[in-house]
Amino acid sequence: MEDLKKFIRDVPDFPKEGILFKDITPLLQDPVAYQTTIDYMAYRYMKEKIDIVIGVEARGFIMASTLAYKLNAGFVLVRKPGKLPYKTHKATYSLEYGTDSLEIHQDAIKPGQRVLVVDDVLATGGTADAVVNLVNILGGEIVECSFLMELDFLNGKEKLKGVPIHSILHY
Ligand code: AMP
Repeated sequence: MEDLKKFIRDVPDFPKEGILFKDITPLLQDPVAYQTTIDYMAYRYMKEKIDIVIGVEARGFIMASTLAYKLNAGFVLVRKPGKLPYKTHKATYSLEYGTDSLEIHQDAIKPGQRVLVVDDVLATGGTADAVVNLVNILGGEIVECSFLMELDFLNGKEKLKGVPIHSILHY
C-alpha cells in the first residue's frame, strides 16, 4: 500500500503559507490506485456490518460514498454550516488551518447504528473529533474512523483517544 504514496501530491503553502497540502487528486485520477484504495478499505470492514458511512465535506464525500456502496451501507453527509436543508446538529472544531463548524441532519443516524467515519487526511484530529461528537449526539456506534493518510506529527490520535482509528498511509 506504500506504493499509493506515489499518487499523493505535496503542494507547499496551500491553502496558506506553512501548510504542506496532501493532494489526493492524482490518486483519484488513476483507476487502479483509486480502486486499490477503496477495495483495501472495504476489505477491512466487510465483516463488520456497517450501517452508515459518514463523509466529511468535501473531499471526504468521494471515498466515503464509494465505500458505502461497496459495503452495502447508507451514506451520510457531514457538511459546513448552512448547507444541509433539514434540521441539524452542530459541532465546532479547530482545523490545522483555522476553525469551523460541521453539521449533520438530526435524522441521519438511528440510535445503535454502526457507523464508519471516512476522510482523506487525519491532521490535528479536530474534524474527526467533531464528527465523533455528532455521531454520539445521535446515539450511533462508531466502528472506526478510517483515513487514507495520517499526519503523525500533528498527533490527531491524541485528540481522538478512545476512538478506533485506522490510516492506510502515515507521514
Ligand atoms: P484536522 O481537523 O486538522 O484533522 O484536519 C483534517 C481535515 O482537513 C481533513 O478533512 C482534510 O481533508 C483537511 N486537511 C488538513 N490538513 C491537510 C493537509 N495537510 N493536506 C490536505 N488536507 C488536509
